[in-house]
Amino acid sequence: MATTKKTPAKPKSSNKSSTKKSTKTNTKTNTKTKPLNIMHDASLNRGSAFTTEQRQAAGIEGLLPVGVDSIELQLARVHTQLDMLDSDLQRYLFLMDLQSRNQTLFYAVLMGDPARFMPLVYTPTVGEACQKFDHIFRASRGVYLPISAKGRLKEILSNWPQKDIRFIVATDGERILGLGDLGVGGMGIPVGKLALYTAVAGVPPALTLPITLDVGTNNEDLINDPLYLGLKQPRVRGKAYDAFIAEFVDAVQSLYPKCCLQWEDFANFNAVSILKTYKDKICTYNDDIQGTAGVALAGIYGSLRISGQKLTDQRFLFMGAGSAATGIAELISEAMVMEGLTIEEARGRNWLFDVNGLVESTRKDLADFQKPFAHKHAPMKSFIDAINDIKPNGIIGVSTVPKLFNQGVIEAMSRVNARPIIFPYSNPTSRSECTAQEAYQWSDGNAIFASGSPFDPVTYKGQTFVPGQGNNVYIFPAMGMAVLATEATRVTQQMFIIAAKAVAEQVTQADLDSGLIYPPQSQILTASLHTAAKIADYIFEQGLARIKKPKDVAAHIGQMAYKPVYDN
Ligand code: NAD
Repeated sequence: MATTKKTPAKPKSSNKSSTKKSTKTNTKTNTKTKPLNIMHDASLNRGSAFTTEQRQAAGIEGLLPVGVDSIELQLARVHTQLDMLDSDLQRYLFLMDLQSRNQTLFYAVLMGDPARFMPLVYTPTVGEACQKFDHIFRASRGVYLPISAKGRLKEILSNWPQKDIRFIVATDGERILGLGDLGVGGMGIPVGKLALYTAVAGVPPALTLPITLDVGTNNEDLINDPLYLGLKQPRVRGKAYDAFIAEFVDAVQSLYPKCCLQWEDFANFNAVSILKTYKDKICTYNDDIQGTAGVALAGIYGSLRISGQKLTDQRFLFMGAGSAATGIAELISEAMVMEGLTIEEARGRNWLFDVNGLVESTRKDLADFQKPFAHKHAPMKSFIDAINDIKPNGIIGVSTVPKLFNQGVIEAMSRVNARPIIFPYSNPTSRSECTAQEAYQWSDGNAIFASGSPFDPVTYKGQTFVPGQGNNVYIFPAMGMAVLATEATRVTQQMFIIAAKAVAEQVTQADLDSGLIYPPQSQILTASLHTAAKIADYIFEQGLARIKKPKDVAAHIGQMAYKPVYDN
């Protein structure tokens, strides 16, 4: 590094994990840094942790109080300030400000207690932040690509200062969590999700980029709000939309050829068609579809460790036949194929039930994506009758309707199974098909339970059960790290199956004994690095990597993983 009197002694962030090329880029940025900029660049800034020597070298002496903090003291101050705030939205804003001020400290906070901070930087708090986006807007983060700039997307995208981008999360803001069309307010999702890629699996933040594709909004409240910051026009649909997405994909490919593109919170019809168009052409995936399926399959593998049964002997009945149900059913089927069944046999073990009853081959109201699961069967309107007839080992609730797993349903499942698998996955908690307490009580303590939203431990007949949460965060950060570490050319369905197995194998016997089928969230960083290494092994095995396989894949990943410490 060329040094001048004003260059601080290595005041760069601790991202040792970038590739050689990106490290070079960082170094170059450092030498160009004007004195004051190191305090205004979140990747360089250390605030009160700059040592006296660094302050003198950088020409910022006197611009901070004389005291020099360790990162531990800075963390203590952050926690004190967080405790003074009254609401999670305020804590979210505080953390976002910290992210744009001092990236190392921000990630030290998150990685110090991921179970506490995930709900603050991501769901549920991020939902409220997205809803109020235009009113609480402060510093901008990421890139906004409006459809009005069609033809110039590459030019606009190249305004992003980092030139080596390996991971993009993009949304068009149409179906933000369960909150609907939030237009450009959806940007909170890519920002929050990428923070989790880093905090949960060590994906270096310098290599990530959040993007919002602004194609308008059909949310009248936003259009009528003078503070709304996006395009005030109805959403563009059809060929013009597809051409916009195609130009965006080309721009990404051309500027960042090693980049993986993750689609997030698109309306179902666009999500499915975008994935179909690009999954075999570029390195891409959709977490709503594939990550959800991966985490549900992980729960099933965890359940099988309790019941001692084989996946290929299982039958599942889904309450709900939408995108989550069909995505999970398809991944379970593909996992069964990996264990020897034909795809027809495997799909035949997965049944759907929706608002009109059992999904079966005589029904005329089915969409194409549901038809592979419309098996031969008499029409049936009662879920309990379907349980009695199909005798599923597990029921998976993805209906968005609370209380559908009532006492009769759980008791029917308990009659046909010694250890019934009960997964009410609908979010948020108020939509859950049953509570943990209900599942354990009505199954007389025999349910193998996991839910979409968290439930507290339940004590029943003197035994304490710990309910697991099927949170996609067990899967997507690890997938991101594996793709990055291997420079993978594609993200395949099988990679999600490998991820699911890797998550389930990390659940300890003590966890299983308490009913927990996912690793504890407090250990998520270790769990994610293990999962990432397993996926990476598979990527190398399948010839999908763009780099030579290192001797020790886990060590290679560990070395690449971002660590929130200041380099001295
Ligand atoms: P969707 O709208 O595509 O599908 C909902 C399905 O439920 C439809 O098939 C509908 O017919 C059916 N349904 C509605 N009312 C019903 C009733 N009374 N009886 C039976 N079926 C009924 O929604 P989706 O995207 O598939 O998501 C479903 C739920 O899954 C949501 O609550 C979502 O939060 C949850 N989910 C959880 C996770 C997770 O926890 N990891 C991930 C993704 C989705």
